[in-house]
Amino acid sequence: MRNVIDFRTGSGNSPGGIKRIQSYEDDSMRMSKLLVPTLKEDPADAEVISHKLMLRAGMIRKLTAGIYSYLPLGSRSLRKMEQIVREEMNAAGAQEVFLPMVQPAELWEESGRWDVYGSELLRFKDRHGRECCLGPTHEEVITDLVRRDVRSYRHLPLNLYQIQTKFRDEIRPRFGLMRGREFMMKDGYSFDATEEGAEQSYAAMWDAYRKVFARCGLKFRAVEADSGPIGGSFSHEFMVLADTGEDTVVSCDTCDYAANMEKAEIRPASGNVPETAGTPKKVATPGASSIEDVSRFLNVPPHALIKTLILKTDTGPVAVLVRGDHDLNEVKVKNFVNAGEIELADERTIEAVTGGPLGFSGPVGLGKVKILADYAIRSMGSAVVGANERDAHLVEVSPARDFTVDHYSDFRSAAEGDPCPRCEGTLHLSRGIEVGHVFKLGIKYSEAMNARFLDADGKERPMIMGCYGIGVSRTVAAAIEQNHDQDGIIFPPPLAPFRVVVTPVGAKNAEVDETAEKIYRDLWDGGIDALLDDRDERPGVKFKDADLIGIPFRITVGKKALAEGKAELRNRRTKETVLVELSSILEAVKTGLENWDSEAS
Ligand SMILES: [Zn+2]
Repeated sequence: MRNVIDFRTGSGNSPGGIKRIQSYEDDSMRMSKLLVPTLKEDPADAEVISHKLMLRAGMIRKLTAGIYSYLPLGSRSLRKMEQIVREEMNAAGAQEVFLPMVQPAELWEESGRWDVYGSELLRFKDRHGRECCLGPTHEEVITDLVRRDVRSYRHLPLNLYQIQTKFRDEIRPRFGLMRGREFMMKDGYSFDATEEGAEQSYAAMWDAYRKVFARCGLKFRAVEADSGPIGGSFSHEFMVLADTGEDTVVSCDTCDYAANMEKAEIRPASGNVPETAGTPKKVATPGASSIEDVSRFLNVPPHALIKTLILKTDTGPVAVLVRGDHDLNEVKVKNFVNAGEIELADERTIEAVTGGPLGFSGPVGLGKVKILADYAIRSMGSAVVGANERDAHLVEVSPARDFTVDHYSDFRSAAEGDPCPRCEGTLHLSRGIEVGHVFKLGIKYSEAMNARFLDADGKERPMIMGCYGIGVSRTVAAAIEQNHDQDGIIFPPPLAPFRVVVTPVGAKNAEVDETAEKIYRDLWDGGIDALLDDRDERPGVKFKDADLIGIPFRITVGKKALAEGKAELRNRRTKETVLVELSSILEAVKTGLENWDSEAS
């Protein structure tokens, strides 16, 4: 099975398997010597599961806000993730480089990002007064590198990546490794001569990313993401599914359509528009400004109401109509009007545009702004809308008859149970953690920074770029968000600091200790990285720590089982314990690792 990595050889032909630099002779494999300061209690300032558990398991320690040190166990998991990424990038034809973290301002001025990046870019001056920044991303540096040395179509395509520490000066760093200021990332960049080539580079990375997250043993979805004005399906996010995720993933139960909430398309409703019998009438709705209040007050369901939202854009305000039970999708509006910035208007703007106060806006008589309406509005026969005056609404309003919509389009967010835009299936919402992003950049940077090549006809053209990121440290945290229980972490074996812990228990006994040592050595010889818990501690303490750290398999060596020539093998996920003949332990562990995914509920 692919996702069981042999760290002695690495899987495939990669160099640098861990066994070559570590062996069971090392102290770093013995719990008595290893720096693993586990904690009994949840640390007070940790909000999310992965943060709490990584601190408690002694994997990380906070240095200062959003900046963490990796202790031996944390470092091992991180290195394993890195190695999986490195192997798949290399297999996909990408070449590893290592770029500087400190970057000169001039490059950022050339790309135009120095002034627009905001405070997340940590800027400082060196001793000569030259402006610099700490790299949050490396588009400028890589574009500069390539433009200097690549001049001909013969040297394209080119795909370069690095695994590097990044710095983003988040205003409120929290959630441990999930949103730190300093973090480990794989960032890669492709350079192509043609559009078709750029699409192939993109597809190759999409494919490599699927392999990476599958090899990590994670449940994930590749979802279509908003790519702004580029459009099309040239931006995908890779989401680790977890109830604690901060992103919403929309996916079909029938086909493989999946998108993030910003992007998820809504199929326009078909069918005839019902006739409206009456004419608009103004009704008093004292104090009722929310959909909920108006719905209750007038005794009509929310889907019979129209929400009129006034949005401020950098090209002026617009009114957007969505059905009362639907949610406005600001990103869709932003892309439709091609705005850089968009936000809900303040009270003053609303009054200037509608003549009425916040909470009572409506489309009837609204002459000062363009009216954009979601598709669902088109099939409403009779609706309730705001009257553009305090404490009043209009009922029996017909969208077809009583106001003019400038554009109908898809302006709402997908909801649980919506029809799939691609097939007859149904959309479902789940939570996810973004761990990877592939993006077609086009010529944004190559134009701005003059990264050009000569094509076959000797004509100068800008290179077509793509950029591809994987949050390496974030993936380790996401793996914990997805896999844990009340006792601690349940690491998927490929990311576990060790795949097995060998635990001698009971009163000091030479035979027990020698057997444990032998099992531990046999496991390493058999290609399984094992930890030996040789501490002089009670069994309960050792078991609790093993569960907390989330080591997939625990082998317990005790006097009683040993008398029968056996030891206990316990699966961290299923909590099942079996007695195994000493001679077949290696085999039992290998079988257990192979079946890990299929035993997952
Ligand atoms: Zn579908």
